[in-house]
Amino acid sequence: MYRTHTCGELRKEHNGLEIVLAGWVQTVRKFGSISFIDLRDRYGVTQLLFGEELNKELTESPLGREYVLQVRGTVSERSSKNANLATGDIEINVRSFSILNKSVTPPFTIQDDTDGGDDLRMKYRYLDLRRQAVKKNLELRYAVGRAARNYLHEHQFMDLETPFLIKSTPEGARDFVVPSRMNPGQFYALPQSPQTFKQLLMVSGYDRYYQIVKCFRDEDLRADRQPEFTQIDCEMSFVEQEDILSMFEGMIRHIFREVKGIDYSEKVVRMTWEEAMWQYGNDKPDIRFGMKILNLKSAFVADGGQVARGELIAGAGFGVFDQAETVLAIAVPGCSEYTRKQTDELTEWVKRPQIGMQGLVTIRYNQDGSLKSSVDKFFGQDKLKAIAEAAGAEPGDLLLILAGREERTRKATSELRLEMGKRLGLRRENEFKLLWVLDFPLFEYAEEDNRWVARHHPFTSPKPSDIPVMIGNDPRIADADKYLEHPYARIKANAYDMVLNGNEIGGGSIRIYQRELQERMFAALGMSKEEALHKFGFLLGAFEYGAPPHGGIAFGFDRLCAILGGSESIRDFIAFPKNNSGRDVMLDAPATIDKKQLIELGIISIRPEGEQS
Ligand code: ASP
Repeated sequence: MYRTHTCGELRKEHNGLEIVLAGWVQTVRKFGSISFIDLRDRYGVTQLLFGEELNKELTESPLGREYVLQVRGTVSERSSKNANLATGDIEINVRSFSILNKSVTPPFTIQDDTDGGDDLRMKYRYLDLRRQAVKKNLELRYAVGRAARNYLHEHQFMDLETPFLIKSTPEGARDFVVPSRMNPGQFYALPQSPQTFKQLLMVSGYDRYYQIVKCFRDEDLRADRQPEFTQIDCEMSFVEQEDILSMFEGMIRHIFREVKGIDYSEKVVRMTWEEAMWQYGNDKPDIRFGMKILNLKSAFVADGGQVARGELIAGAGFGVFDQAETVLAIAVPGCSEYTRKQTDELTEWVKRPQIGMQGLVTIRYNQDGSLKSSVDKFFGQDKLKAIAEAAGAEPGDLLLILAGREERTRKATSELRLEMGKRLGLRRENEFKLLWVLDFPLFEYAEEDNRWVARHHPFTSPKPSDIPVMIGNDPRIADADKYLEHPYARIKANAYDMVLNGNEIGGGSIRIYQRELQERMFAALGMSKEEALHKFGFLLGAFEYGAPPHGGIAFGFDRLCAILGGSESIRDFIAFPKNNSGRDVMLDAPATIDKKQLIELGIISIRPEGEQS
């Protein structure tokens, strides 16, 4: 028997017990003629005491860090206890030991605050994974997955696997492809998601499907992206949007309870995409704090329209505002006493290339009710007050105003809002705010090709009331400059995103399930009949055999874990992640393959001797 207990298990009540432990040597501390060794395994750390006799043996065969050690001995209550360690009340009086395996000196210390840099730790990820901090993250990941599985199982979802070697699935990224040796010149694509398969499972009558599954997307990697990532992927039959929302609110609530001990009983906030864009400047707002955006030129009207609201700033003769396509303001609470230096620093912040604005207008709404602004020359107290109040400012607040081209200014204001939220400590790590964003546009305009692309994916259904708009209008865009006036720009999707603390954690839709509408959709996206048949003939065919109404959602599992674990990086929650260039630095992959393999796969052809291929 290698061990009777684990290194995290022994307590005071085991005093006097004969035990065997096995684990890794974390530290060796010599005190004169005795030594203390911390022995670590997955479950914890236990202190070993090597008395005088054994210590001599240690001098002959010294133990290094990360040696694999087995010890026999007796549990003994410590006189000086360590309250920071679960096993800190005891130590092991070692009687005999055996070295099960040696280790070379590890390239970094295997401790919470390691001395290893990112690259080094990734290269030796198997050592990094021994660190408690990383282990905690993977334990959390396991807990989230288990909670999701339990919930879905309780609700009749069936875990069904779908293939990885498939044909392209359009989720808006490039495919990773795999050459087929048996079909020279042909390639499989790795799934960007199991989207079409889960829909086919609905056609097959499986009613409720889920899978915690790898998805592969070849896109330029941003900090929080991995070329292969994991989704909690779900699909249900005979459902409307409302059924999906309540089922998956339930799942997230269950995960919160099981993993974080949080009873999230409040109603999940709902917001239309339009509202999100107008009030927060992006489609995944962090609603842990307010600071909503006020548009000083026009106002949002709930049915998707907008009305002019220029009177707040018009006629003042301030060219920047007059000429700008849009002027957006946020009221930052309690910051009216910012110094000149502080507002200058903010101005520099918005001018950084990532934000890309020309400047920043500030209005201080002082505690005494007076207002002071960087554009006092143009705006009197009354005007300033009207602007401040329209933006929801109160005495003591600081208004920040950006002006310029619509899209850039909206993005910049959204970034500025998040930055101020962070600086003011309003984005609290332990506060969780869930939000559904609803009523996304069905289409997005792709300037390069002057055509429509699916905002979610081509299987998402339009809102029933918009189906006639889709059917009754030619998708072609006659005047690229006026694409916003095309009826397709108004069509709303039966789609929803779940947002947690400013991160999209899940997204899905009610699907199209009739062949004609699906064909219409493909046509709207500029696909010819032949192309649609070639790519999706299997799905169109399946829709002719009694496809039920269905819909689903997929959650970004890695990201959900990162947020629940209070981290910005999904890599910390993946056992073997890739770096920012999509490389696995431990394996050194991707790598070249030899010529023989390339020939076998039909990627290069065999040429006569001497000729280059
Ligand atoms: N397949 C979609 C995605 O990966 C999710 C869904 O529509 O269920 O975003």
